[in-house]
Amino acid sequence: MTLPPNVHDAEPIPAAAREAIDALMQSGDLFRYTAPQDAPVALLEQEFADLIGCKYALAVSSCSAALFLSLKALGLPRDARVLIPGFTFAAVPSSVVHADCVPVLCEVGENYRIDMADFEAQIDQDISAVIISHMRGHTSDMDAIMTLCAARGIPVIEDAAHSLGTTWNGQNIGTIGRVGCFSFQSYKMINAGEGGILVTDDADLVARAVIMSGAYEHNWQKHKGPRGENAPDLAEAFAKWQNQLPLYNLRMSNLSAAVIRPQLPELARRVRDGLKNHDYVADRLNSSPYFDVPAPLSPEQRAPDSIQFNLVGMSEEEIKAFAKSSAEKGVKVQVFGLSEDNARAFWNWQFLPNLPQLPQTRAMLMKACDVRLPVRLTQEELDVISEILLSAVSETMERAAA
Ligand SMILES: *Cc1c(COP(=O)(O)O)cnc(C)c1O
Repeated sequence: MTLPPNVHDAEPIPAAAREAIDALMQSGDLFRYTAPQDAPVALLEQEFADLIGCKYALAVSSCSAALFLSLKALGLPRDARVLIPGFTFAAVPSSVVHADCVPVLCEVGENYRIDMADFEAQIDQDISAVIISHMRGHTSDMDAIMTLCAARGIPVIEDAAHSLGTTWNGQNIGTIGRVGCFSFQSYKMINAGEGGILVTDDADLVARAVIMSGAYEHNWQKHKGPRGENAPDLAEAFAKWQNQLPLYNLRMSNLSAAVIRPQLPELARRVRDGLKNHDYVADRLNSSPYFDVPAPLSPEQRAPDSIQFNLVGMSEEEIKAFAKSSAEKGVKVQVFGLSEDNARAFWNWQFLPNLPQLPQTRAMLMKACDVRLPVRLTQEELDVISEILLSAVSETMERAAA
């Protein structure tokens, strides 16, 4: 019998990365701004912008850094209110606090997406910017969000940390808002251990972000327009912001870029496999009356590397018993609201003053399960995971009925 797979191991990094890293070790050229041109970080930025379909990309130390720089680059005043979903990773409200702004939480529905009625109610409460966090790669209704925000001139930042490869009406997630932010942390589609990238079509915004990311003196000259060409609007923006902005030094190292670049050509396959694996397990889980895997919105083509599902008609005690039974059988199920100190449960963001109640989001978190499904898993391994989840829930509920 196939054993439950280790879902924490990543795929091996493509061999091409080793050659690039060896060359860097030889030259010692790890800083992105030493080479006059074509440093690995600069090449990554061009390649990523082309891949995703935007004009500018800025590689940084993490997605959290990209979110922080996005807020700073928007020039928001101190204490500006930034609307974020109540279901996201603690890094998102943290980036808002770090930018001296105030996070305002919005309800999220049973399908893990922003509750549009609450969003609409809150958007007129003195909101200066919105961060849409596509949590676990679940895309909120971007058409409705963009319409509401455009009508009010409110900029939208997409937290696409976990959405690389997801599309909405065929357009890449992360390119719909004014700025998009991605992560290269190990549990994301492309793994460099740590790293992030910010994408935008806005020359002025990217110029501000580039300078604040640590392009001191005239290092900004190494940032080019689309396809490495000189871009007059970019040069103008850099000239305007020279010496006007603080430097936060959130740069990416050439070493990280060397690990990331050879993974870009793997993305399409990873997305394909991830979606196929997810949908296979989703079908199996939906055969149980106790599991509900919410469907994507119709414009959305997902790129999952994990699965989320709600437990139906089960008490908290039964939910805990199910999680315990699954773990004993070899599959770790994280119920967002029940695992201790979970960074995705908003009541654990106690660094925020005046945490709201968000009853709907809380109810979802108390029954929403999270299981990692790395894209490299085989069908046999997916069957083992599905069988364990199905048998754990049916045994738990039979025991409860007895
Ligand atoms: C991983 C993640 C982040 C943080 O990314 P880092 O690169 O670790 O800073 C932010 N938001 C979401 C939705 C994430 O999944």
